[in-house]
Amino acid sequence: MKIDMSHGAGGEMMQSLISSIILQNINNKSINGGIGLEELDDGATIPLDDYEIVITTDGHTVDPIFFPGGDIGRISIAGTVNDIAVMGTKPLALTNSMIISEGFSMEDLEKIIKSMDQTCQEADVSIVTGDTKVMEKDKLDKIIISTTGIGIAKKGDIITDSGLEIGDKIILSGSIGDHGIAIMSYREGFGFETDLKSDVGPIWNIVEEAMKIGGIKAMKDPTRGGLANTLNEMSSKSKLGMLIDEDKVPIKEPVHAVSEMLGIDPYEVANEGKVVLGVEAEKADQILDAIKKTENGKDAQIIGEVTDDNHVIMKTSLGGKRILEAPIADPVPRVC
Ligand code: MG
Repeated sequence: MKIDMSHGAGGEMMQSLISSIILQNINNKSINGGIGLEELDDGATIPLDDYEIVITTDGHTVDPIFFPGGDIGRISIAGTVNDIAVMGTKPLALTNSMIISEGFSMEDLEKIIKSMDQTCQEADVSIVTGDTKVMEKDKLDKIIISTTGIGIAKKGDIITDSGLEIGDKIILSGSIGDHGIAIMSYREGFGFETDLKSDVGPIWNIVEEAMKIGGIKAMKDPTRGGLANTLNEMSSKSKLGMLIDEDKVPIKEPVHAVSEMLGIDPYEVANEGKVVLGVEAEKADQILDAIKKTENGKDAQIIGEVTDDNHVIMKTSLGGKRILEAPIADPVPRVC
């Protein structure tokens, strides 16, 4: 058997590769009783006295490297700091490993670095160490950027993606499909002159406002595999189900139109500036109000609730119900 593109596209194919080849062949998967590799959460933790070091890592292969609303530099920062943020922890610092193809434009590299710096300033994080390597042309497609993020939380403050309880409300911080559909439409030749822009950006500000109120049971960022994958992962890890109201899930008009035209389900494509929160029902309205006051969370909605079912059920606009399945693979490869 050989690896194919769907093994890296954040759905059931990738999950099975991780379970069969990776998890089975690594013996040491956690340290000091912290969250480790086995949990497949957004990040891991290393308990140390009264604190936990929160760590995550992410390689970025997005194609194209410049796209409407962002570039590989911005996504390399946002992708990683957001995985720290959804652990309930403020991201502090990053490492940056770049592998660059021989012949790559210096001007483009400088643009990418400036974009990383800009995103770091927005997220209030620092790049504290890095590595730069070059490979022969034809052996690498332009550039790959891998970043590792770190944060420090007080012991007990960590929020996982699996703590849901029956009756909790599900909050989504804004519209879905913006990133995956922007990438796809650019590849299809729509160019930069489009209403479709990626949502790529840091989301710690949203998490911070929500955490001030408290009552967050679980969090995750709906990246590869989209909202469909994230809701299924959160509910299956909590061994519960969800009832989601389709009318409450924000989808921008151009995203809707292009999705239909390309035959892609916006529920299954990556978002790079959104967060899904499972929260105590009594606190849900207050958390929603707080999130709506942030610029990148102004379209947030309570989209559903946790049930004792073991499926994610969608109440459709027409009044019917259907199971919202996790995708086999994100329909748009190399999206981050
Ligand atoms: Mg994540």
